[in-house]
Amino acid sequence: MLYFLLVILPVMLVASLTLYNWLKHYYFVHQEEMLVRSGTLAAEFVRGYMKDDIDQPRLISLTENIGHQTQPPTRLIVVDSKKNVIGDSLRVNSKLGKKLDRVEINDALRGEIGRSVQYSEESRNWIMQVAVPVKSDENDNSPPIGAIFLSASLLEVYQILGDIRMLLFWTTMAAVFLVAVASFLLARRFSEPLGALTLAAQKMADGDLDQKIKIPSGDEIGRLAGQFNVMAERINYMTRNLQAFAANVSHELRTPLATLSILIQSLKEHEMEPEQQRDFFEDLDQQTQRLTNLVTDLLELTKLQHTKVKEHGKHFSLRNILLEVIEQMSHWFTRANVKFVHEIPVAVLMISGSPGQIRQVFYNLLDNALKFTGAGGQVSITAWEEADTVEIKVEDTGKGIPMDEQKLIFERFFRVDTARSRDEGGIGLGLAIAREIVEVHGGTIRVESQEGRGSSFYVSLPRVIVTQKPEEK
Ligand code: ADP
Repeated sequence: MLYFLLVILPVMLVASLTLYNWLKHYYFVHQEEMLVRSGTLAAEFVRGYMKDDIDQPRLISLTENIGHQTQPPTRLIVVDSKKNVIGDSLRVNSKLGKKLDRVEINDALRGEIGRSVQYSEESRNWIMQVAVPVKSDENDNSPPIGAIFLSASLLEVYQILGDIRMLLFWTTMAAVFLVAVASFLLARRFSEPLGALTLAAQKMADGDLDQKIKIPSGDEIGRLAGQFNVMAERINYMTRNLQAFAANVSHELRTPLATLSILIQSLKEHEMEPEQQRDFFEDLDQQTQRLTNLVTDLLELTKLQHTKVKEHGKHFSLRNILLEVIEQMSHWFTRANVKFVHEIPVAVLMISGSPGQIRQVFYNLLDNALKFTGAGGQVSITAWEEADTVEIKVEDTGKGIPMDEQKLIFERFFRVDTARSRDEGGIGLGLAIAREIVEVHGGTIRVESQEGRGSSFYVSLPRVIVTQKPEEK
């Protein structure tokens, strides 16, 4: 507001002063022109009565007549070449017969137009005086035979100028007032939402993450507020997620640790047969393995959240990776009596990223398929190329996933049947890791499943189209 006023005030002042001075000059020039014109006209009239003999009585009445008719009201004095007054339009205080020695008259008697503005103590007024030469002939070069002296009050001009001054003053005041009001409203429009933003940011900094501010308008401030809300929501979500994650991790760690503790306690406190002892050590080993797996998975997840695809943008053949995983895992299927079918085309299926991570995705998917498919079932893995992607389907005839839980299985630590899955060795991180990896690689993963009939997991990864011979891995 202050800045606005600092700008508008000098501008208005300079503009008003300039306008005022210009108008004053204009009025003065105009008044002077009128007086000179009246004087010149009067000179024409009086010339005839001054040329040879001075016709005093006629001159007096003529001067009075002209004086009364001149606008603005003007005092008209006629002097001869000796500066003696021979006509005066005023009767009271008439200067008739006296000598009038004035600068303006001297100028007029030299053939020029004399002019001046002065303050008259007598009439308490500014007056303008003009003296015009009277020549014996119109185009005569001889010295003037007399002069006409005119004086008019500037009262009217000063009155007009006074009115203008008032007008300019009030215009300036009105402008300042309007600017003050407008800038106040404008400032409030900006400062209110900014204040709300600052307050919300402050609250967030203090740990109160549930912040949402009213979006004031569609302008920049509005967009900022909108963006702030999005950010606040995201931070809120991430923090809640992190808290849930930490809670889940602690929970997952507690069970094996408690089991370990009981096992160690038993070993310490009870005498045991070597046979029984071996069983206990077997259990210890199993629980330690669980813990190791959990920590490895967690590390994997954390690592993934800090990687970008570009960091491992290596081109490689997905076909080779799939064949490797299939070979590694097929004897597990045989052992579990689950039929394992694979259909990998001869095409190279070139993709880009980290081969190790991609291997992990299919390892997790096939591991789940095996885990959740009973003996006598079937698991198949199929791959094919689309225009821009490589598609892979892992299908099983296992127990399937209930419809309303299909969305949740990719969340960390989610298990459909908590107790059973834990027995099966799962901790609910396998699919979360798989999804993270696929997304980091710019792909998608989804599931289709029918409870009791089986599940199909679809992975779609961006295909790399290479012209030269690919580097086989
Ligand atoms: P887990 O380590 O428990 O296998 P995942 O994240 O891999 O964790 O899977 C999460 C849950 O999704 C599993 O506990 C299971 O309930 C369900 N699930 C995953 N794959 C399958 C599948 N092929 N058939 C049935 N249920 C599955």
